[in-house]
Parts: sequence; structure tokens; C-alpha cells
Amino acid sequence: MRGLDAAEDAELLPLKVNCVTMRGTNDDEFVDFARLSLSRRLTVRFIEYMPLGDAVLMHGPGHRADGRGRNGQASHLSSALNPLPAIHASEIGPAGGCGAQDRGDVLVPEAEVRARIENELGPLVPVDRASEAGVGPASVYRLAQGDPKGRIGFISAMSAPFCATCNRLRLTADGVLRSCLFEGGEVPIRELMRSFKDPAQRRRAVAHAMTECVRLKPDAHGAHGNQQMSRIGG
Ligand code: SF4
Repeated sequence: MRGLDAAEDAELLPLKVNCVTMRGTNDDEFVDFARLSLSRRLTVRFIEYMPLGDAVLMHGPGHRADGRGRNGQASHLSSALNPLPAIHASEIGPAGGCGAQDRGDVLVPEAEVRARIENELGPLVPVDRASEAGVGPASVYRLAQGDPKGRIGFISAMSAPFCATCNRLRLTADGVLRSCLFEGGEVPIRELMRSFKDPAQRRRAVAHAMTECVRLKPDAHGAHGNQQMSRIGG
């Protein structure tokens, strides 16, 4: 709370507090988080938990289960370059994460979070998304009662996937371009970058790899990710 006070005092706005909703971990705190929006100039964003991790055991390291992506196309770059390194046992399952991905009941969908908040604090009314700086994929509301200073947002990738509008690629620390945080097809580019001495050629090769990677984006993600978050980055 002192950190929030300091951020507000220093006018570090807009201020956002992200709350990943997890049954058995913080599902008794949703109303308390929402209540922050009454007295503080911030947006509390409730983010549905996405299970990442263990499916790597079933599908092999670093690739979608079917090895294909959007439009059913396989990446020839992926197959032409070196396979990704194997996943170390310490990165799999509870040893590699919080273990929540191994429990089937962790997800708390937006509808349940909203119901809990509205039962305690009254109705939520929609806010124009364009008025929220850095809104990303969030839908934004405010409490109708209590003259709130802040807002409440929901990012609900599990109950309402927004993959069709996703514009993100990720680059992992070991040089793999990843089409999707959750289960994306991947294009290794480390060796590709090292193989071109000419900067212009290297730029063209990377641009081509990025195009390939975009083609691997899922139309909609599945129920379980295929890499530990620690390998992907945020
Ligand atoms: S494509 Fe992947 S990263 Fe983008 S919204 Fe869907 S699950 Fe998330």
C-alpha cells in the first residue's frame, strides 16, 4: 500500500494493479481489490489465470501439438533450423512453477469475479475503452456507487479469447521467436541471425522469420499452454 501511495503522490499515472484470479490462492480477496478503486486513482485489473507448463511433457519441447499454426501451415524455418533444447526436469510441473497448472479448479472466470464484486459493492457500469490509457485487451468498468476515483478492468483470455486481435510476438532469452504466449508455434532465429554477416540481409531474414511466426499464431488458444512462463518471459 505504501508503494501505491508513493506512486500516486509522484503522479505515476495511469496506475494499474494486476490481479491474476486463482481459486484457492486469492479468491477471498477480489472484493478487497475492487474496493481499492473507490479511494484510489488506479485501475484494478482482474486477469484470468492461464495454465502454462506441463503440456510440454505431452507435446515435446517448444512446438505446438500438431507442429502447425494458423491456416494449418507448418513453419519451414522451424523445421530447417536446429531443434529447441530439451526442457530440464526442474522446469516442469510444480518444481518449475507455482504448481497451480496441475490443479483443475484454479481458473476463476470473469463472470464469477464480477458476481462477487457486484454482490458486495453494487453494479459495475462500462467505461469507454478509449478513455483508458494502455487499455490493451481489457474491458473497463467502474463501480456505480460510492463515487469511485478508479476503475476495474477484466482481461479474460480463457472465457473470452481475444486471439483474433492479438498483435504480439515474443522473443525468448535463448533466441526463439514465439507466436503466442500460451501455445504458440516458434521460429528459432539465433542461428539465423548469426549466419548473416551483412546487416541488410540479416534484417530481411529476421523480417521473413517474423512473417513466418505470425502465420503460426493460433486462431484461438487451447486449454493448456506448452511452455513454462520462465522460459517465455511476460
Ligand atoms: S494468440 Fe496467444 S498471446 Fe495472443 S491472445 Fe491468444 S493466447 Fe494470448
